[in-house]
Amino acid sequence: MCGRALDEVTRIPVCRECLREPQPLSAEFFCASCRTPFLNEFPLDGEGRCALCRTGLRGFDAAYCFGAYTGVLRELIHLYKYGRVKTLARPLGDLLAAALPREERFDAAIPVPLHWRRRWQRGFNQADLLARSIARRCGMPVVHALKRTRPTTAQAGLGNTARRRNVAAAFASRGRTAAVAGKRILLVDDVMTTGSTAAACALVLKRAGAAKVVLLAVARVDRRMGGTRAATAYSTVGGSY
Ligand SMILES: [Zn+2]
Ligand SMILES: [Zn+2]
Repeated sequence: MCGRALDEVTRIPVCRECLREPQPLSAEFFCASCRTPFLNEFPLDGEGRCALCRTGLRGFDAAYCFGAYTGVLRELIHLYKYGRVKTLARPLGDLLAAALPREERFDAAIPVPLHWRRRWQRGFNQADLLARSIARRCGMPVVHALKRTRPTTAQAGLGNTARRRNVAAAFASRGRTAAVAGKRILLVDDVMTTGSTAAACALVLKRAGAAKVVLLAVARVDRRMGGTRAATAYSTVGGSY
């Protein structure tokens, strides 16, 4: 990533400095429920919730992400996901662990599924390895309780409402009811864009009886950035499914 020669034997082709580079997302104002950062307090209601959480469109109970989907963190995720450097699942798992509040307890980790065709093209599901990484640390099982019933392509360019509609029908339960009903679920993904994917998954899990669904992702698209950088991040994530 930085071009420096690696001076130690490692299974991860990224130097220590670059791995240490990603910084946690900081915001003065953020939604109390989905933790979306805002430039000011105006989008938040009396209980500190954003408009989407207020209307109940989120489906999940909370969302934690380590950093903003930009710079070195974005490059690391790309190297992992598109460059297929699977060994990055471990350092990225460290970031997931850092983003998860210590008091939170879960019964199972569930990765956001890829459509089988996409999984076949990529060779692995990036969310699956991340879920395994965090599950191992917390001592809980990984349950593949969801499936993607249709490939949701080209989300880029769609507005929030169209995006939600596009993704809402794309997930289904795999019928692992015993592993989901009454359970506290940690839903794991690499990047949170608008939260519509997580919302669709959360609704399916809640319908299957989940007591609580919390999203954990390595990075989130930070709309406060504005301009072309955020727009690029947005279209990359949108096209990645
Ligand atoms: Zn480096
Ligand atoms: Zn919110």
